[in-house]
Amino acid sequence: MAVTTGANRYLETPPHGDRVQPHGALIAIDDASLTIGQTSTNAARMLGLPWEAIAGRTVAGCFQDTTLGFWESLQTLAEGRFYRCNLATTAGQLLHATVHRPPSNFRGTVILEVEPLAAICPSLETHRDTLRTALARLQRATDCEDLLQAATGELQQLTGCDRVMVYRFDTTGAGAVVAESRSLAAGEPYLGLHYPAEDIPAAARVAYQHCPLRYIPDFGAAPATLSPSEPLDLDWSLLRYPSDCCREYHANMGTAALLVLPLLQSGQLWGLISCHHRQPRYLAPEVRADCELLAQFLALELADRRHQEERAYERQLQVLRADIVAELASTRDPQATLTASEPRLLGLAGATGAATCWGGKISLVGRTPSRAAVRDLLTWAETGLEREENLLATHTLPASYPQAAAFSDAASGLLLLQISRLRHWAILWFRPEVPRTVDWAGDPRGSANPAIVATGPRTSFARWREIQRGSARPWHPAELASARELRNAIVSFVLHRTDELERLNRELARSNQELASFAFAASHDLKEPLRGIHNYAIFLLEDYATRLDAAGRERLQVLVNLSQRMENLIDVLLYYSRLGQAELETESTDLDDLVAREIELLSLSRPQVSPEFRRPRPLPTLCCDPTLVRELFGNLIGNAWKYNDKAKPWIEIGYLSPTEQARQFPQRDPQLPVLLYVRDNGIGIRDRHQQAIFRLFKRLHARDRYGGGAGAGLAIVQRIIERHGGQIWVESTYGEGATFYFSLGSERDPYKT
Ligand code: ADP
Repeated sequence: MAVTTGANRYLETPPHGDRVQPHGALIAIDDASLTIGQTSTNAARMLGLPWEAIAGRTVAGCFQDTTLGFWESLQTLAEGRFYRCNLATTAGQLLHATVHRPPSNFRGTVILEVEPLAAICPSLETHRDTLRTALARLQRATDCEDLLQAATGELQQLTGCDRVMVYRFDTTGAGAVVAESRSLAAGEPYLGLHYPAEDIPAAARVAYQHCPLRYIPDFGAAPATLSPSEPLDLDWSLLRYPSDCCREYHANMGTAALLVLPLLQSGQLWGLISCHHRQPRYLAPEVRADCELLAQFLALELADRRHQEERAYERQLQVLRADIVAELASTRDPQATLTASEPRLLGLAGATGAATCWGGKISLVGRTPSRAAVRDLLTWAETGLEREENLLATHTLPASYPQAAAFSDAASGLLLLQISRLRHWAILWFRPEVPRTVDWAGDPRGSANPAIVATGPRTSFARWREIQRGSARPWHPAELASARELRNAIVSFVLHRTDELERLNRELARSNQELASFAFAASHDLKEPLRGIHNYAIFLLEDYATRLDAAGRERLQVLVNLSQRMENLIDVLLYYSRLGQAELETESTDLDDLVAREIELLSLSRPQVSPEFRRPRPLPTLCCDPTLVRELFGNLIGNAWKYNDKAKPWIEIGYLSPTEQARQFPQRDPQLPVLLYVRDNGIGIRDRHQQAIFRLFKRLHARDRYGGGAGAGLAIVQRIIERHGGQIWVESTYGEGATFYFSLGSERDPYKT
């Protein structure tokens, strides 16, 4: 076929030539004087005029009257425009004519190409009928594939050629046969065969963008030469004689006649329709015009179908996006929302796997590389991505990131959407490797080699099979747009939430202020009258004891105790509120030493029964406020001591490393850097109380049981921990003991889990 190796290589050489195909005659007209300059040697015969009546004469003298001003209008004929008409010579010869201006406007020349009109030509009505049937078949096509296939069938009928193919270019310029209709005589099918980009040189592509068709009815016909014999710009000439290389190539292929029709989409060469015949085949100009029209209709219909298919796909992506965006708008956990529905997240980019990374936490959906591989990929992308670029899309990941070869079955294609670099928010979509079996029409490595091309065209068209690895189905522009849209939506929610957060912060600051003034009022205004009540009750007890009976004295004593207790509660409340506001004074603190000193102090105040203290390994040194942390340990150890009724009480103080945490709390996320704990074999806490005990003034026992208490210890502990950015929770089996786990801060390496 004309588009394969060698067929068009002559177009790379200067386009000027002096040979034309003999089924027509070429006449070069000087556009200033409208006189005939050069003609092909067969012109006199074809025009039915003696040579002297043509050479150097004006065109008007050779042809019968035309439309008024026809020849003059050629003087302003635009480059790239082909004008067609029927002409009659002064000798009465009827001709089909095409006029064009060569691309280089060769010496102010327009080229007239003529060929005899067929003596018996189907009527206009018959033409229209044939075309109408063909167009109706194309319109009934179910999809693009069917459309192209239908076009080859109709064109085969129209031309009677052995084989009609649609050849489609990919983004690299290489092409493949995507539709084919052939008769039995045509031989082997070419459907699915691939051709390297070099097969069609740039100049040939440009020519196909301008010329309505390329028609060679007989490769074996001897050329007619130009007279005088000077090279002329024949780049866009319809009669241009095929190069030796091209003729030899088609002879090797067994093609004797050829018609090629370009398929343009938005002005770009999308593909070609190529009709081959094993015998010379003359197609009347009217038939070729029908073919041309059909090709143009096909191009339009194809554009429309492709447009519709793309719109449908865009709509599908839009629906999925609208769904997820609606949920993202009200969620507190975007990552959970994104991964909630696997088909939805994958469908957003037409992927088979996806990973979301939120603040370093990685969640996998579908078919993906391992978590560790995703983490490495993110680190790689972080350095590779331009700062302002938020999207990285490749369908050949192993080519740019060789480590991907290890998981190419899951991710040869990567679409990485960075939502926030600062917060480490990203979504990655994956596509698996599609090992492509490419059947080349001959070994393409040969055609890429100029040395081979220079020595002649291909002689072998045997299928040369190549397996291409490491590439996935390319990402569709609509998928990239969809990803970008999703990012915009998420970012706008974040902004919205930041505004909301700011508003809450302002409110919080205001209520903190109120709390502080309340605390101040409580300390001065409340405590003063309270102390008065307390003192007066004591005076009464001391000075009037003898005048009161036993019941009266007892009630007064209760009044003293209650006022005492109320003062204690006010003190606790004050302290608790101050804890929330005071600045932390953090420093590197040896916790092991701090705990040892606290145990010593506690032992002094509780000499009775001393529990066994277990310290499995020294506690680490951490950055914290030592005064507050000491108080925290004091409370926890104090409780472990107090709430113990065993004959041999013990208290264990230790910590878990991140690995131990992962083993012990696989469900818990995020894992904390160092998880400290205080454990005892005491009375334990029922499940239903395990949250409530952290509330201020919450006690589970009668006021004086287990040595009494205000019920504020754990609330204070929790506040100290929260101030350090940590967490606390309890695990306990009632009757057997309790373990309080807590951390002092939660900073982690963003991508380490
Ligand atoms: P208080 O000890 O003053 O009552 P806390 O806030 O320290 O106040 O504790 C609240 C409640 O939690 C306690 O009343 C007790 O019932 C329970 N509790 C605290 N620590 C332990 C423990 N180690 N074992 C069993 N129960 C405990």
